[in-house]
Order: sequence, then structure tokens, then C-alpha cells
Amino acid sequence: VEIVGAPILNEVGRLKGTVLVFHDITDFKRLDQMRKDFVANVSHELKTPVTSIRGFAETLLDGAMNDPDIHRQFLTTIFTESKRLQALIQDLLELSELENDELRLQTEKIDLAMLFKDIQPFLDKQATGKQIQLSSTISENLIMTGDTNRMKQVLLNLINNAIIYTPEKGEVDFTIHGTDDMIEIKVSDTGIGIPEEEKSRIFERFYRVDKARSRNTGGTGLGLAIVKHIVEAHNGRIELNSELEQGTTFKLTFPKCQTNK
Ligand code: ADP
Repeated sequence: VEIVGAPILNEVGRLKGTVLVFHDITDFKRLDQMRKDFVANVSHELKTPVTSIRGFAETLLDGAMNDPDIHRQFLTTIFTESKRLQALIQDLLELSELENDELRLQTEKIDLAMLFKDIQPFLDKQATGKQIQLSSTISENLIMTGDTNRMKQVLLNLINNAIIYTPEKGEVDFTIHGTDDMIEIKVSDTGIGIPEEEKSRIFERFYRVDKARSRNTGGTGLGLAIVKHIVEAHNGRIELNSELEQGTTFKLTFPKCQTNK
């Protein structure tokens, strides 16, 4: 609490009393702390790949280039780390646009079954690589108003996460169905789950349950923060259900496009 005080004087200038104003600055402090954490996180996340790129490049220049095997191995690391850096910068720019309401949605009518067909080949490939069974149950003719590319991004992100955080030979299930005036999209997996106490935090920027694991899978830790923004920009809601070691379900709800019968 921040307290500001002022004396109250009588006609002859003697102290009659004092006014004290109490400001509750909890929110301000919390936002200020979040901003500081964010800057610290960004710096750390950028520093890690840059240090690695620089170190490997330096070692190559110092003579490691003469050994063709090491040469290739080091260049591969430099390439991987620069891709990570690029993904991170792209996600940061996007998040900043979303948070400043600068993102203009290119809205149109989206047929969700068609949208899923577009991204399915890519997801099938991801799932097959991990021997994960990806199944889908999709009602036809469900139309919403939204930005096709952004909605693709949301689904790709959630299904990709489901595949990443599910051990080999697990299952990922994707469903789209309609109620009277809403569209429900669910992504369920039989993966590692999210601990109860972390559930409210995973939509925060850079929040990860297991930092090392997420980095190894190439994640930036910004995916769900971006997903949440896009969903809300579409007047939608995102909910989460998860049981540790059993699996996770993300449920999205959007208003149905009313002109559609
Ligand atoms: P990341 O790039 O780390 O995947 P996200 O923002 O997409 O970043 O996710 C944040 C964190 O939420 C992940 O690091 C992971 O700990 C957790 N998470 C997301 N999706 C799942 C899931 N389907 N199962 C278990 N944990 C998940």
C-alpha cells in the first residue's frame, strides 16, 4: 500500500487533523514485476542461442574446420540455433503486435472442416514420426468468422504441443462439433499432463513446466500465450483439463457464424 498524507489546518493555521489516502498498488507492482521478468526472460532466451552460435563459429575459425566431421557437426548446431533464434524473434514480434492490438484480423467465413484438411498432412507427418495415432472427428459445415491463417496457427500449435508432450505410441484426438450457437474444438492427448498448480500459468509468456524439455523440442515458450490472444481476438474461449501422466485436453469455444444455416 502506498500512503499519501496532508495536514488539515484551522483558520489560525493550527493542525486540526490529517487526511491519509491509501493507494492499493498491488496491481501496479504485479504488472511492473511481470514486465521486469519478461525483459529478463527475453534477454536470457536470446543470449543462449547467440552464445552457442558464436562459440561454435569461433571454434571452427580456430581450426576445427580442418576436420570434415566436426565441421559438419558444428555447422549443423549453428544452423539449428539460428533457426531457434529466428522462431523466437518471430514469436516475440507477433506477441507484441497482438498485445498492442496492432494485429488486424483478415476476417472471412471459415469452414473448419476445410481448414483442418489443409493442415492435416503436416500434422500426420509429425504424428507418424513419433508413432502417435492422430484421430479426428469433424462435423461438416461448421462455419465461423475469423482469420484463416491465425486459426490454422492456433490448431497447429495445440495439436503440435499434444504430439510433443505425448510419449511415443500415444494418442492425440481432435474433434470439432457444433452446438446451437457455438463451435467447440477439442485437442486431447494421452501425454504427460500438466500439474494442477501450473495450469493457470502455462498461458503466460515463457512459462514452461519443464524448461529443458521444451527447449529441446524447439519450443519458444510463447506458443500458448499467442494462441490465447488469437482465440480471444476471435471472441473465443480456451479451457484446459489435465491429469498428470494421463493426458491433457484443450477446449476452444467460438461463436458460430449466424448467417450459416
Ligand atoms: P513451448 O514452446 O514450451 O511448448 P507453449 O507456450 O506452447 O510453449 O507451452 C507452454 C508449456 O505448457 C509447455 O512448455 C509445456 O510445459 C506445457 N504444455 C503445453 N501443451 C501441453 C500438453 N498438451 N501436454 C502437457 N504440457 C503441455
